[in-house]
Amino acid sequence: MSVLIVGSTALDSIKTPKAENPRLLGGSASHAAVAASFFSPVRLVGVVGEDFPKRYLQLYKRRRIDLQALQILPGKTFHWSGEYEANMNNRRTLLTELGVFETFTPTLPNSHQNSPFVLLANIAPSLQHHVLNQMQRPKFVVADTMDLWLNIALPDLLKLLKRLDAFVLNDSEAHQLTTEDNVFAALKKIHKLGPRYVIIKKGSHGAVLSGPRGFFICPAYPLHLVMDPTGAGDSFVGGMMGYLATARGSIEDNFRRAMIYGSVVASFCCEGFGLLRTARITRGQIDRRVKELERLTKF
Ligand code: AMP
Repeated sequence: MSVLIVGSTALDSIKTPKAENPRLLGGSASHAAVAASFFSPVRLVGVVGEDFPKRYLQLYKRRRIDLQALQILPGKTFHWSGEYEANMNNRRTLLTELGVFETFTPTLPNSHQNSPFVLLANIAPSLQHHVLNQMQRPKFVVADTMDLWLNIALPDLLKLLKRLDAFVLNDSEAHQLTTEDNVFAALKKIHKLGPRYVIIKKGSHGAVLSGPRGFFICPAYPLHLVMDPTGAGDSFVGGMMGYLATARGSIEDNFRRAMIYGSVVASFCCEGFGLLRTARITRGQIDRRVKELERLTKF
């Protein structure tokens, strides 16, 4: 089954203490789409400007991502720039140029409206609603968000939570939303806002799920060197949704393993700038890391 993914499609300029890389392929939807494409067919919904490099379109195509709902409009592609501190966790945004993203209205062709799995990657909640309004009874809907929308679009986000099966956010966003310092208390509060599945991501410390069968502690793959963690969260949720869309059996039965696959794709993402590493891996490499994680956490 296919996964429909809407979110930002961007050019990212990323600075770390060791290197600087301008205008990489980025955006929440790009990272999530490439991650999901290792497991299932993907339909990408987004917008880019005429300056969007052809080689990035080729990259999507090599991953067999359906680009029918990717709008190419006169103007500039959304450009985001961020700088990491030496610990590679703290990041500050240096620049956000919206370009064609400013007036983006995601429009789904008829063929996309029956996609069973929907991933509303990080984008304004009003646009996430707009996409959901066009869907015909999706089987499973997941959304991600960021601190910006908690600050400037909280009412829209709270309405969205009531329409989701699963909600994914990071620990600082969970704290902002619930004022809880304790992850488990925060998960409980977020359930009350709507979603059956809530995942709190904790960066290099993995993620915690609270779902119908209780908690699951999902480990992060142990990396010795992180080059650039940009998009790791999007890769996690993209990989997870891609796996869920094609795994046999019920969503509930597959959910934990799906998170592990998401965690492994995210680990590859961190090993290179932007999508440089993720775009080159194979399903075999992913499966090997999943086995390794299984060994590491068995007791
Ligand atoms: P993450 O590292 O998971 O927080 O995701 C980083 C990605 O989010 C980058 O590729 C950016 O292009 C994208 N991004 C940054 N700011 C925004 C925004 N305001 N809306 C949507 N996407 C954004």
